[in-house]
Amino acid sequence: MKKIRQPIIAVLGHVDHGKTTMLDRIRNTRVAEKEAGGITQHIGATEVPIDVVKQLAGPLLSLWKGEIKLPGLLFIDTPGHEAFTSLRARGGSLADLAILIVDVNEGFQPQTLESIEILRKYRTPFIVAANKIDRIKGWKITENEPFLVNIKKQDQRAQQELETKLWELIGKFYEIGFQANRFDRVQDFRKELAIIPISAKYGIGIPELLVLISGLAQKYLEEKLKIEVEGPARGTILEVREEIGFGTTIDVIVYDGTLKKDDMIVVGGKDKAIVTKIRALLKPKPLDEIRDPRYRFDQVEEVSASAGIKIAAPGLEDALAGSPVIAVRGEEELERAKGEILDQIKSVIISTDKVGVIVKADTIGSLEALSKELHEKNIPIRKADVGNISKTDVMEALSVKDEEPFYGVVIGFNVKVNEDAEEVANAKKIPLFIGNIIYKIIEDYEAWVKAEEE
Ligand code: GDP
Ligand code: MG
Repeated sequence: MKKIRQPIIAVLGHVDHGKTTMLDRIRNTRVAEKEAGGITQHIGATEVPIDVVKQLAGPLLSLWKGEIKLPGLLFIDTPGHEAFTSLRARGGSLADLAILIVDVNEGFQPQTLESIEILRKYRTPFIVAANKIDRIKGWKITENEPFLVNIKKQDQRAQQELETKLWELIGKFYEIGFQANRFDRVQDFRKELAIIPISAKYGIGIPELLVLISGLAQKYLEEKLKIEVEGPARGTILEVREEIGFGTTIDVIVYDGTLKKDDMIVVGGKDKAIVTKIRALLKPKPLDEIRDPRYRFDQVEEVSASAGIKIAAPGLEDALAGSPVIAVRGEEELERAKGEILDQIKSVIISTDKVGVIVKADTIGSLEALSKELHEKNIPIRKADVGNISKTDVMEALSVKDEEPFYGVVIGFNVKVNEDAEEVANAKKIPLFIGNIIYKIIEDYEAWVKAEEE
């Protein structure tokens, strides 16, 4: 049986531009009429049922011509572009859609640009939330109001100031090849990027944001979102973590099929495909029912895409964040899934005798993104691996340094440096380039090479 699943939506943007605040607002959205049904908390995600969108939207729904057939929206809770680089599915992006959030008073910042680059690379459709409009001098605040209602209450000066800021933003988008416009002035959503002025803090413009993202999904992704719901599940690991009473568990976003409690799953591990049988499928208990923090989960029998779920199973200690999860129901499927996962690990985790840099990242997806950038810059890689920077990594860089000083370095994305690694790096003068903006890390490395050459 085919069904249309919820689009998976990521929120990204520069630090402090309001990603967390916006997700909190969405999570805490209340609708007056109870029968609309509430927001559902998933593991690592929040679901907004379409009825809630409709209730909030009211007359705004006319912005969106035609019937909305989506069951709802699934927002990935881990905000930030770093996380987004690791959210992969079948070589593309796990997120079907994205909201790029920009502080309208600050405009483009490094992570804004990097977020746009990532979205462009994966061809992820997105809309722009121009946040913190309440900071404009004299702005009149009414909580949770649609922007189009709120704007009418503002005096001339405040309206003008918003216009100016939006034009600056539109100009910036133009410079990098995007035609953008305030959402209510967009003629063709295929050609123009819609900007929705919002205040995440006070909920202004959130109704439009939800309506527009639903509309976009319905219009451009209907085919992609149509899944064979009974089929075996596929997902992506968001996080690997210890859970009291369950051992090592994986938090997974399921984007295809149905995962059943008795399913066998194959997931990516450090140097192998891990095959294991599910012990429990866990979803978060409603907040008001948690009396003892040790019992934060409810067990479920099955879960269908799109959903965020915690999987408890033996042997997950070496599972890799960002890697695929494939459910299998037969011997043939098992072999195919193992092959597919091994191929992916092998294409990303590199270990050679080559003279080249050492690369570390937090997840398999971000490792792939970083390695790809280095490759494009013709910087050779000796080792690319998931995890914090260890003493072994530094020692390996040291052995490279003897042959080619410029490659005797460790480059790390979103990772920590182990204490003993730091000591050795200092003692042996091995530079470590770490950060959470890929192009910035590479820029730092290139600047260092240049300085050394002189
Ligand atoms: P993130 O780093 O993108 O997750 O940003 P946060 O959501 O943590 O927000 C950073 C700061 O900006 C916090 O102090 C928020 O309270 C504030 N902030 C976020 N959205 C708004 C907004 O719409 N208006 C105002 N005035 N402040 C906001
Ligand atoms: Mg945040």
